[in-house]
Amino acid sequence: MSGRKIAECQECGELREIIADEKCFACYQRARRRNKRIVDRHSGAIKREHKKLFRAYSNAMVALADLGVSHQDIMAIKGILDAYVEPIRPYLSQEGVDENSKNRG
Ligand SMILES: [Zn+2]
Repeated sequence: MSGRKIAECQECGELREIIADEKCFACYQRARRRNKRIVDRHSGAIKREHKKLFRAYSNAMVALADLGVSHQDIMAIKGILDAYVEPIRPYLSQEGVDENSKNRG
């Protein structure tokens, strides 16, 4: 007993041993390859240089917090850093930060 069922493959309609997702081995493999192409990590939106910027930027913010830098000074430094993190700016929530500074006056 293999434990696997023989049934009609949902992909090709052949009576075959079903591997997973109601598909035979060939169709399951094909589907997996297809999915792999879609979830290609190397073509992700966030590139390696972006990751570096994210890390550096968050490290800078953590450092400012650890130093006990005032909110006003952080905003001034952030204004300077903004130019350096231009490539990842779409990923940083600017609205949230601006809203915060408005509230604090
Ligand atoms: Zn099949």
